[in-house]
Amino acid sequence: MTTRNQMDCMNFVGGNWVRGTGATSTVTSPWNGATLGTLHHSTSDDVNAAVTKAHEGFLKWSKFSMKDRCAVLFRFREILLRDADKIAAQASNECGKLHAEAKAGLMKGIEVLEFALSLQNLDQGGKMEVSRGVWCEYRREPLGVVAGITPFNFPAMVPMWMIPIAIAVGNAFLWKPSDKTPLTSILIANAAKEAGIPDGVLTVVQGGRQTVEAVIDHPGIAAIGFVGSSHVAKLVYQRGSQHGKRVLALGGAKNHIILMPDAEIEMASRGIADSFTGCAGQRCMAASVLLAVGDSQKLIDQVVAKASAMDLGKDMGALITSESRKKLHEAIARAEAEGAKVLLDGRKAAAPRGMEGGNWLAPTIIDGVKPGSQAACDELFGPVLSIIRVNNLSEALAIENANPYGNAASVFTTTGAVAERVAQEAKAGMVGINIGVPVPREPFSFGGIQESRFGHGDITGEGGVEFWSHLKKLTTKWVNPTDKNWMN
Ligand code: NAD
Repeated sequence: MTTRNQMDCMNFVGGNWVRGTGATSTVTSPWNGATLGTLHHSTSDDVNAAVTKAHEGFLKWSKFSMKDRCAVLFRFREILLRDADKIAAQASNECGKLHAEAKAGLMKGIEVLEFALSLQNLDQGGKMEVSRGVWCEYRREPLGVVAGITPFNFPAMVPMWMIPIAIAVGNAFLWKPSDKTPLTSILIANAAKEAGIPDGVLTVVQGGRQTVEAVIDHPGIAAIGFVGSSHVAKLVYQRGSQHGKRVLALGGAKNHIILMPDAEIEMASRGIADSFTGCAGQRCMAASVLLAVGDSQKLIDQVVAKASAMDLGKDMGALITSESRKKLHEAIARAEAEGAKVLLDGRKAAAPRGMEGGNWLAPTIIDGVKPGSQAACDELFGPVLSIIRVNNLSEALAIENANPYGNAASVFTTTGAVAERVAQEAKAGMVGINIGVPVPREPFSFGGIQESRFGHGDITGEGGVEFWSHLKKLTTKWVNPTDKNWMN
């Protein structure tokens, strides 16, 4: 039973809110442990009913011209901007990040929407006369009902990587939000409805693993976009591919920053501190390992000073669950037991006043981490920076290259040749030069490599257009009725 201030988290099917008929779970605030709502999970019957309505939506929507679809999506953008603070507040509330972080995430999602809006002018296909009187032409076509499964850490941004492009090209989109942060989906679906996106074009089904499996297995779903941990990304990719579906599954990360002794101190220390503490370290682009080359002590001292000055609850938010906090405590203790030195110990920080029931861990910096250890290799997903000391750039690159993930890598340096070598040799889909969180701005697309991505291509930009559509090739020869000799 939910109280007046708590929310009932339901499915959005055919433009109406309906309860999933499966199990229920509780949505809990990372800030203070309060109950925020009840999540009604969806069974395979619920998914079935949702796909039926989505298919009806697809039949209408795919008949709209690209320009007409974009006219509706322009209104979606206006409503999201109007409600940006409300949506950011909801995302912040349920996932523990700061309001400013939640709003920045939503704005990045709106940037992808703006890219999708540009398709009405950019996506002109292509047509040419390939032999006398014979023309070849590309026509972009939607796939049908497509699905997106999203993680807890960006309740507004990650879905907005997928929804705008997928529906701009004419698909109906079925979204399965994280079961930990499902509440933001209510505001986004309501905004879509208010904008006039026809019923069934955006569907939301709530739930966890069973709902995801029902979505993947449903024969009426043509393609699956997934963003989450590598373990689940791989499962989703394999299961979807077995059904012959198109799947793009983005996974976790272990991002390295190479710190050169010639780096500009203020820029580097600010960039590194912000990268590992932003969103409490719970982002797939967060710095996780600092490869400190040569004598970088002054720079490291500055990173420690900046991170230790952060106030919990004001400069940094909370972790998603108490289990996540426990795992991080264990990982820090293990690194210590293996001989690393904790330069900054976030375990000791007090929770912000009145938020003692929340999942708090202040920034933590561990020095002398050994390559191959858990702190060096596993995605810890919290505000923990592992420092590995190396003698030169080659050693740093060898450690970065040996890591199985491949989302981001950065270098802080004032030497162009060093920067260029890292750009060429880092094994990551997104590389930063003097940037701690090298997320590309649209139209440059987002996506990693190796264990950070299963499937082909990127999720935004041109990659998203290619993933959510296919190109039909049309070859045409018309009879000229005035040409008596035609076909002689
Ligand atoms: P998660 O893998 O636990 O969950 C992601 C989604 O899958 C959720 O919707 C969840 O309900 C569902 N799910 C969970 N377990 C499942 C299972 N066994 N079978 C099927 N579905 C399942 O990820 P999370 O904890 O929500 O998010 C954090 C992870 O996401 C981190 O690893 C982070 O690096 C990654 N992430 C990656 C990117 C990227 O672009 N590569 C972006 C954001 C987050």
